[in-house]
Amino acid sequence: MKLSQKLVEEAIIEIAGREGVMVYKVLKDKENVNEFLIAEKLKLTINQIRNIIYKFEQYNLITSTRKKDRKKGWYIYFFTLNKKQIEDLVLQLKKKKINILKKQLEREGAHDFYSCPNKCMRLTIENAMEHQFMCAECGSLLEPEDKEKNITKIKKGIKELEEEFTKITA
Ligand SMILES: [Zn+2]
Repeated sequence: MKLSQKLVEEAIIEIAGREGVMVYKVLKDKENVNEFLIAEKLKLTINQIRNIIYKFEQYNLITSTRKKDRKKGWYIYFFTLNKKQIEDLVLQLKKKKINILKKQLEREGAHDFYSCPNKCMRLTIENAMEHQFMCAECGSLLEPEDKEKNITKIKKGIKELEEEFTKITA
């Protein structure tokens, strides 16, 4: 599997934002990293770090151990990145996007859409008829969309994602 750094970072931004990428970079080539050390390095609070780690945990990206601080009496967590799982995450997110586009494609194929020239709303022809083809937001006349153009655009998006997917798994 060939994962570029760009793909990894894109996936992490999607689940945990830019700060997630910062945490990822600190954890990347290390094991059992003290959470306080991460917070100090990134100038974030321990709560911010724990929130990001929580998001990572949702995707099994992290294994953690904890030790009791004898003096202070609380637990300190140590984190290790689960690198194999990052590959799965990238593929999972791509697959999810492909499925969303496929559903969208089905919907586009099954209906004729009308939209407001000011982009307030888009309705199926049935709903547009109920509104006498008028935009409920700005009162403009709704215009029929170019169905073929929409479908071509979605198909192109699916093709691109599928190519990326194949490239990663090749
Ligand atoms: Zn409008």
